[in-house]
Amino acid sequence: MRPTGKLHLGHLVGALENWKKLQEEYECFFMVADWHALMSEYENPAGLAEYIIDNVIDWLAAGIDPEKSCLFIQSEVPAHIYLHMVFSCFTPLGMLERCPTYKEQLREVKTRDLHTYGFLGYPVLQAADILIYKADKVPVGEDQLPHLELTREIARRFNKLYKKEVFPDPQALLTQHPRLLGLDGRKMSKSYNNTIDLSDSEETIKKKVAMMFTDPKRIKLSDKGHPDVCNVYSYYSTFIPGLKDEVHDWCTNAKIGCTECKKRMSDGLIEILKPFHSRRRELAKDKDSIRKILENGREKASAAASKTLSEVKEVIKIAV
Ligand code: SF4
Repeated sequence: MRPTGKLHLGHLVGALENWKKLQEEYECFFMVADWHALMSEYENPAGLAEYIIDNVIDWLAAGIDPEKSCLFIQSEVPAHIYLHMVFSCFTPLGMLERCPTYKEQLREVKTRDLHTYGFLGYPVLQAADILIYKADKVPVGEDQLPHLELTREIARRFNKLYKKEVFPDPQALLTQHPRLLGLDGRKMSKSYNNTIDLSDSEETIKKKVAMMFTDPKRIKLSDKGHPDVCNVYSYYSTFIPGLKDEVHDWCTNAKIGCTECKKRMSDGLIEILKPFHSRRRELAKDKDSIRKILENGREKASAAASKTLSEVKEVIKIAV
């Protein structure tokens, strides 16, 4: 996860809830991808250090357990960069230029210049991040599948080039998670300024929910609504599914207005987030413990990464 801002509800339902389950089943490595963050934030990297700690507090508050999983910062394990360099030597330019997410980002991102050498190589570093641990499985959303395919291609090229099966063929662990939209109905994203952050206070959550887009055809209290086109209703489905049928009835029969419907939703959401917020407050008081967790993670990740690196050095006959 790139530490480019505060984490929001979309991260909680889209990634962290899934990670929590995965750690029960697999040996997991969860990485703060600060090199990847620098690739887009290179002009203004001042906030990254603060976001690293803040994001990890959210991971822990969401239930990521450092006793079960390895939590670490990418730049603190230099083997990633070493392997990235090795992969860069034989990754064809065309393969990177054709990557759909690369083309999309160049098209969409207007606030920073991404026409850089580093950004083109983003998937090569991702391949190194995955393969340095010889990962069998990578939890990804569908939009990340082309990157994983590129990782597999790089692994195959390395094995073929140096005539040794050093790297496995990592498989996608496709995650089905509810797609949570932002306050305005677009994808929840800090760049759209439409997020509910995991660190938001109860007051802020209430204010933000009050601003949410609803069924545009429901103007008066007496208008019957269409919950299926209403973002507030989708939040009920995700966070308070037990109330879904009731809300459907309130809405389609104009039994309550949108203001009241939103208020009940924000009250429910605040209630659900209470244990998360209380853990978060406790964790935030003790940043030294967070550093210690990341230090332990660095040691564990470095030990695993250096084994792979020794093998790579032996195979490519470079001893550094
Ligand atoms: S009553 Fe609730 S579900 Fe219906 S349109 Fe208003 S906010 Fe949405």
